[in-house]
Amino acid sequence: MKITDARVIVSAPGRNYVTLVVETDDGLVGYGDATLNGRELAVASYLSDHVVPLLIGRDAHRIEDTWQYLYRGAYWRRGPVTMTAIAAVDVALWDIKGKAAGLPVYQLLGGAARDGVMVYGHASGGDLDGLDADVERHLAQGYKAIRVQSAIPGLDATYGIAGASPVYEPASGARPQEDRWETSAYLDFAPRLFEHVRDRFGYGVHLLHDMHHRLSPIEAARVGAALEPYRPFWIEDPTPAEDQSAFRLIRQHTTTPLAVGEVFNSIWDAQQLITERLIDYIRTSVSHTGGITHLRRVFSLAELYGVRSGSHGAGDLSPVSLAAALHVDLSIPNFGIQEYMGHLAAAEEVFTVGYSFRDGYMHPGDLPGIGVSFDEEAAKRFPYDPKYLPVNRRLDGSVHDW
Ligand SMILES: [Mg+2]
Repeated sequence: MKITDARVIVSAPGRNYVTLVVETDDGLVGYGDATLNGRELAVASYLSDHVVPLLIGRDAHRIEDTWQYLYRGAYWRRGPVTMTAIAAVDVALWDIKGKAAGLPVYQLLGGAARDGVMVYGHASGGDLDGLDADVERHLAQGYKAIRVQSAIPGLDATYGIAGASPVYEPASGARPQEDRWETSAYLDFAPRLFEHVRDRFGYGVHLLHDMHHRLSPIEAARVGAALEPYRPFWIEDPTPAEDQSAFRLIRQHTTTPLAVGEVFNSIWDAQQLITERLIDYIRTSVSHTGGITHLRRVFSLAELYGVRSGSHGAGDLSPVSLAAALHVDLSIPNFGIQEYMGHLAAAEEVFTVGYSFRDGYMHPGDLPGIGVSFDEEAAKRFPYDPKYLPVNRRLDGSVHDW
């Protein structure tokens, strides 16, 4: 089965998505997601200029060989642009293989290892009362696990607050918005937030919390210890992880479970974290970590060390990537949880999905392949709309991690 055509479509149905379409000589079409929030056109160019010409004529069935060809064959390895581009090709080829076999991709990955995939939603508020209302909304929808974030008293803006939009989206503007942050305000507030939510809703729901890479290791250790009585499911991205050994210090001070990795793009970004058991959940995503082929390798390594999956699943994953993630989640032995934010109504005009949500769990569905179709004509109604993630500065004006 030869690849006869491939093309990249950049569209913005509610937010920007980069979609790869791969066609074969027997009429099958596969879809991949190449969205890299705020750097969309770099991946689109990598694919259109350097990858698509190499795909034409290749055997669509040879997924592993194509992965190795694009990774090793480029000489320049890793990095978010490269690995997002490879991911799009990889998922498109799994989609085609599933369609050729007449099976959903999870069946090709060994079949269902569970009945459904527990997902967590995002609850947030401009204050704790606002957060309460959003937690209630999620509980009413059946969520078993909820990420809780609130604006922090004394700071004008903070991450993770949805505002008026039904789906939290931090990217905005043709130039990055600049936020202000001071960690000292956060350190005392985080335990109050958890105390408030546990007092209000009890311990029957999993609570998650994202620190967005903003703390130093010792600050993260302090907050992790302070949160222990409230039993978080995890604290996410407590400190940047370019230096994986930084997590040793946090680990020495707290039993609060740790999750990290949504910005990772390779198994090498997580090797020390996993093999030294410095984390509990690895947040690598199908779209930014080399596709199904490489993500499964990350999760297999994690399985050996008792680390579970907890994939990134924010709105910057198109429905194609979310579906691909669900196929992986359903089939691996060490699944932990999957992030799920949903998509805006405009995305539903472009992507038709086979996955479903019910009572806190998702299922990828049983359509052949990934189970998501993409309407190229509808996508033309939503032209690319340049947007950037915010830049974060401390109150003294110095650049901080966002
Ligand atoms: Mg996060």
